Amino acid sequence: MTPKPTLTRNQTLVLQTLTAAVEPLSAYAILDRLRGEGFRAPLQVYRALDKLLETGLVHRLDSLKAFVACSHPHQHGGEEMVAFAICESCGGVWEFSDSKIEDRFSAWAEAEGFLTRTTTLEISGLCATCRQRADAAAAAEAGA
Ligand SMILES: [Zn+2]
Ligand SMILES: [Zn+2]
Repeated sequence: MTPKPTLTRNQTLVLQTLTAAVEPLSAYAILDRLRGEGFRAPLQVYRALDKLLETGLVHRLDSLKAFVACSHPHQHGGEEMVAFAICESCGGVWEFSDSKIEDRFSAWAEAEGFLTRTTTLEISGLCATCRQRADAAAAAEAGA
């Protein structure tokens, strides 16, 4: 367990914005929400994000070019495997980790002599709520 990193004011504001958001936010969306706090340039957001990504408090979703606050109960390092399920309908994101998948990746990397920097899995699909909604809509249509 690593000690809680000390964050600057800007880093704290960016982290709070991401924690409060229900959906992943792009750097520009973060900037828009922080204009009232004195943020002027995307670079300020990117600088804060760099540090937050490094400490594992925030994750980057490459497929969405967006950022989410880490939802792990514990703080994990930047090099640990993180997996995300992303709902294509509501934009919801679920973070999870699975030591079995992580073990398989590290076994492969070791066999290949591959030096892993980050491992991020992104799974796209429909969440349970959206599936139910789609099923209900389909049923209503079939009944009409
Ligand atoms: Zn996390
Ligand atoms: Zn959904």
